[in-house]
Amino acid sequence: MFVERKIVGRCVDYAHDGRGVVKHEGIPIFVENLLMGEEAEILITERKKGFSLGRRLKLLTVSSERIKPTCEIYKFCGGCQLQHMTYAEQLRFKQTRVEEVLKRIAEIDVEVEPIIGMQNPWRYRHKVQVPFGTNPEGKLIAGFYQKGTHQIIDMEKSYIEDEEADRVLVTLKKLCKQLNIEPADVIQRKGVIRYVLIRKSRARQELMVVLITRTGYLPKKQLLLEALLTAHPNIRTIVLNVNSAVTNVVLGEEEHILFGPGFIEDELNGLRFRISAKSFFQVNPEQTEILYQTAMDYANLSNQTVAFDAYCGVGTIGLIAAKQAKSVIGVEVVPAAVKDARINAELNQIRNIQFFCDDAAQFMVKMASRKEKVDVVFVDPPRNGCGASLIQSLITMKPSRIVYISCEPSSLARDLKLLKEVYKVEKVQPVDMFPQTYHVESITLLSLK
Ligand code: SAH
Repeated sequence: MFVERKIVGRCVDYAHDGRGVVKHEGIPIFVENLLMGEEAEILITERKKGFSLGRRLKLLTVSSERIKPTCEIYKFCGGCQLQHMTYAEQLRFKQTRVEEVLKRIAEIDVEVEPIIGMQNPWRYRHKVQVPFGTNPEGKLIAGFYQKGTHQIIDMEKSYIEDEEADRVLVTLKKLCKQLNIEPADVIQRKGVIRYVLIRKSRARQELMVVLITRTGYLPKKQLLLEALLTAHPNIRTIVLNVNSAVTNVVLGEEEHILFGPGFIEDELNGLRFRISAKSFFQVNPEQTEILYQTAMDYANLSNQTVAFDAYCGVGTIGLIAAKQAKSVIGVEVVPAAVKDARINAELNQIRNIQFFCDDAAQFMVKMASRKEKVDVVFVDPPRNGCGASLIQSLITMKPSRIVYISCEPSSLARDLKLLKEVYKVEKVQPVDMFPQTYHVESITLLSLK
């Protein structure tokens, strides 16, 4: 039987989620809120296969990189993980993480460029998305989940989110309470609101509010809309989304536009982008422009280049590329995003681009079997990476350059390991898109050997 025990140890590393790593009898122990070099008393609370979990008790030495978290609820909230680190230490952690997975998983020896951080690493999120629920007294609450649980922490503001978007959320909560619009419980099949998603366009300062409901029914709809729009005249559109599925996927298929056009518009890298509720759009516009510019620098396009944008979302990367390339093809699996992408081509009067709605891997397998040629491929997959069949198609098609934008270093490293026989990793540039959290974005240039 496992018995909890207390040890004294020093933090020698960080885990992928920013927890400190202490080695004890050769086994790593993961400890929250412990910084590199710090020595502490640690209670080993759980033994797992190959590692243990520990809780930090008394700090015996304090790192100069330790700071007081800005947020009052940081200790409980699962929204941020790195607020106890200076920003410099956060950046070092992310830099090391990219370097480390490339060595350990991909077995590639490449010098990683110094991470590009933010001037002001706060209030950068232009998308707010929170679940609605009730507290033990049955009162409506909304906010991030508590660390490692599905318990909601009632939240009035988040220091990483846009202030106006936060205020809209506070108003919505107040109005739901006043009008008796209840939070949904999908298991018990009662209540109305499951989540609220708010997006703000940086360029136009306009807001989109998406109410994700359990059924299509929204009581007191007119009263709610009028009060919300009066309090926040910058709201350009309000969308009702229906999601009755008992999963943690936020958005459902069914959608009704309650107010406005059903989309907002933003600008990045000199182009206009229309974004509707179901489309992906990067949350940190300031850093996204740097990310996309780096992608273009790496792609080194000319008017002879045929480019391919896999996982294209609303077409951002492909459209920016199309300004310099001969032609571009974009592929995206979400129909609403493909629709936005096509309209975005029109909005920007870009005609040398075509968008297809398909699974990126399947689309590329078909392209490869038709022996189609492309010169440069951008891939920007979700967290689980591109996967073996897309990578195999790349190896078959042999574009001269691949620009791989990744939001998860471990899947990037796994994919690079498959590519490295045929492609040379030329450059890797981490860009901090998500300060105060452990998420690590990077961009890699590969060239055909
Ligand atoms: N490049 C875009 C979007 C990147 S996010 C941008 O910078 O905004 C990843 C995108 O991949 C999302 O739009 C998601 O809907 C899409 N996606 C997820 N799985 C996919 C698949 N199997 N095939 C094609 N697209 C997929």
